[in-house]
Amino acid sequence: RAKGDGRGAYRFFEATMDVWAQERRALEIDLRSALRNDELKLFFQPLIGAKGHEITGFEALLRWQHPRRGLVGPDDFIECAEQWGLICKIGEWVLHEACRQAAAWPAPLKVAVNLSPNQFAAGDLVDQVRTALRESGLEPSRLELEITEGLLLRDTAGTLDQLRALKDLGVRIAMDDFGTGYSSLAYLWRFPFDKIKIDRTFVAEMSGNPAIADILRTITLLGRTLNLEVTAEGVETAEQASILEDMRCDHFQGYLFGRPMPIADIPGYLLENMAQQLRRGPTGDDVAQ
Ligand code: C2E
Ligand code: MG
Ligand code: MG
Ligand code: MG
Repeated sequence: RAKGDGRGAYRFFEATMDVWAQERRALEIDLRSALRNDELKLFFQPLIGAKGHEITGFEALLRWQHPRRGLVGPDDFIECAEQWGLICKIGEWVLHEACRQAAAWPAPLKVAVNLSPNQFAAGDLVDQVRTALRESGLEPSRLELEITEGLLLRDTAGTLDQLRALKDLGVRIAMDDFGTGYSSLAYLWRFPFDKIKIDRTFVAEMSGNPAIADILRTITLLGRTLNLEVTAEGVETAEQASILEDMRCDHFQGYLFGRPMPIADIPGYLLENMAQQLRRGPTGDDVAQ
């Protein structure tokens, strides 16, 4: 009996693997046509100054409007796009689309774009960025490129050269999800970063865990020492924002200030924020009391 059960379990496992493989195959076919069919969209999440709570820009976050599956998030398809060699084409589209949109925003607002390590491996990233800037007319200092520690670990020849070439274009470089990878201090001074973004897992655990709060305080101090801006990701509560402001974080990003939104929602969001700024007054205190 036990033997039979085992075989049954194995068959079930086999069948599951089969379904899974078919699912992936279907997803791959769909993803290959997604760009062509105009199914990829950029959502934008606001970046907020920690002191005045003013909008400083938006991060472009990829979404896939799948005809049957609905809105698919990047965590469910970016890794596949990398494995299937699709990320470079997709990444190029993201760069162009993000720059094109940002060029229409009020001038000081920046746009942040996430880059996959594969885009560096492909070799034509610097050209892609240069072209996106030229075609959109976006001021290079308004484009911020986000990379992760994984890129630096690969240490492919030329990564540092490409980062320097990107800096020479006048764009800014941010280290995303800081603290989750193999953070090495050596990277921070060897590579030409402008900003570190503290991963939201730290922010989430900060309130209940003094050790995490100490780590965050140390990271912000490190940022000041190395002359890097510090953004806290995943700020969801006013309490988190006030603690992080006391730690002298420079920027916030999180649901407290705004979720990733479709492009059509941005004008309304900007207006609402301006009205709030006026109500707060120049000192940051609430005028209407
Ligand atoms: P990320 O660059 O660290 O982006 C921040 C992620 O945290 C976003 O998830 C955002 O929706 C989420 N988030 C922001 N604020 C909060 C908050 O207050 N609470 C919680 N729980 N989550 C928050 P999203 O949009 O699902 O993106 C996931 C990841 O996918 C991104 O992480 C980024 O690494 C990657 N990604 C997104 N767009 C692109 C792209 O165009 N190219 C590449 N290569 N990767 C991308
Ligand atoms: Mg990012
Ligand atoms: Mg991040
Ligand atoms: Mg992330």
